[in-house]
Amino acid sequence: MVSKSPKLDIVFIPFTAPSHMMAMVDMARLVASHNVRVTIIITTHNALIFKNAIERDIKSGNAISLHVIPFPFAKVGLPEGIENLGSLTSPDQSSKVYMGTMLLQKPIEETLRERVPDCIISDMFYPWTTDFAAELGIPRIYFQGSSFIAQCAVDSLVRHAPHENLKSDTETFIIPGLPDCLELTRLQLPDHFRQTKTPYGAILGVIRESESRSYGVLMNSFQEFEPRYIDHFKKVIGRKAWAVGPASLTLSKLDKAERGPNVIVDAHECLTWLDSKEPNSVLYVSFGSLAKFCASQLHEIASALEASNHSFIWVIANEGAGDEKWLQEDGFKERMNGMIIRGWAPQVLILEHAAIGGFMTHCGWNSVLESVILGVPMVTWPLYADQFYNEKLVTQVAKIGVGVHPEAYFSPRDEERKVVVKREEIVKAVIQVMDGGDEAVKIRERAKELGEKAKRGVEVGGSSYNDLERFIDELIQFKTTHIVV
Ligand code: UDP
Repeated sequence: MVSKSPKLDIVFIPFTAPSHMMAMVDMARLVASHNVRVTIIITTHNALIFKNAIERDIKSGNAISLHVIPFPFAKVGLPEGIENLGSLTSPDQSSKVYMGTMLLQKPIEETLRERVPDCIISDMFYPWTTDFAAELGIPRIYFQGSSFIAQCAVDSLVRHAPHENLKSDTETFIIPGLPDCLELTRLQLPDHFRQTKTPYGAILGVIRESESRSYGVLMNSFQEFEPRYIDHFKKVIGRKAWAVGPASLTLSKLDKAERGPNVIVDAHECLTWLDSKEPNSVLYVSFGSLAKFCASQLHEIASALEASNHSFIWVIANEGAGDEKWLQEDGFKERMNGMIIRGWAPQVLILEHAAIGGFMTHCGWNSVLESVILGVPMVTWPLYADQFYNEKLVTQVAKIGVGVHPEAYFSPRDEERKVVVKREEIVKAVIQVMDGGDEAVKIRERAKELGEKAKRGVEVGGSSYNDLERFIDELIQFKTTHIVV
């Protein structure tokens, strides 16, 4: 039962990658909890991932629902059921999932013409929603499942191109005009910055252009984490933005246990294993829902974990893990003081266990936020996308982690970029976070403090809570001044 009549009617359109979808559904649920009617447009198999959680929200009185549309498998040549980037069974399926997602434009438009909402909140990968919302006379808000620091860094790179005219790919440069002195090399940038024209670069250009014409952006971040970048984004880039996260703070115990496309691992088994460990003694190692390392890099990680002498839980994605030789050959598996998880791990449940003392992460924004919320210091190992910028926020700005300093943007198919991070670098960072020395204690204290601030932010009267209320009020204002007749 909905206690009060909802103040607004908002449609969310998530993209079909696990982290994009999970973050956006968390956000949709958070918005619905502020007495807003929320509809999430989602494809059939992806809907199954969230069905239970949404049913629980409905029972608790929130006006939220899933509007399911079929994914065009046949049209793009995909087997039924493969409709998200996390469930691919071969690399060539990735572009087909993108294509299928593009084909959703027509059915989504038809749905929304039949029942026009007050606002569309869509993933960055639906740039067409800007013009469509304008046609309907409603605002399009884009959702960035990323950080303000990343948005500011990319804007600066596009505007000032500091990576051009360098002597080499390994020469460092400073990203101009930002609140901190953030250094990168060209080798750490994605292809679309290193080469003049790439297909993905062209898509990103379209996305950026559509974002610049959108009403504003809803961000899964919070004021206390990156205040100067929020300020920079609003004042220098000049966009409307609301920092209302971390949205995953609203997850219940059951939500956490069910989180993800296909929870393969028995949460009970790894939590019981963690129960037998001392507080802060175990390192959790995971590189998100998509990254797949080559065997030689996995071997370096294994050797580093062994040399650093800490217990660990290490999540290795299923695909690409066929070659187990590197694990078996020297008896690592028999000797190891840890647990290897194949496939999907109950990450949030693991991170919130008292035995976890550190998180070796690729700095995907959701993983960073989950670590921050739970006050877990990080060993940072950025791979691609926004991760090199997120890592700067963690290690250099908030100082709640230590980096392994990969030399290159992760690109397993690019020979030039196949730079394996050596075990010595990994061990050094792990020890700095896990060894309990003075610096490690300070990092842990800062991480705990930031976690408390994150929690206070989403409570009534907190910074994120208030920003979400401001966002809703502004949309109500828009609605009352733009009545479509
Ligand atoms: N995740 C999980 N179990 C896994 C791998 C990932 O629960 O085995 C979740 C993780 O908690 C996070 C998301 O998937 O919410 C990964 O998002 P992130 O932005 O960190 O990285 P991406 O997957 O986009 O690279």
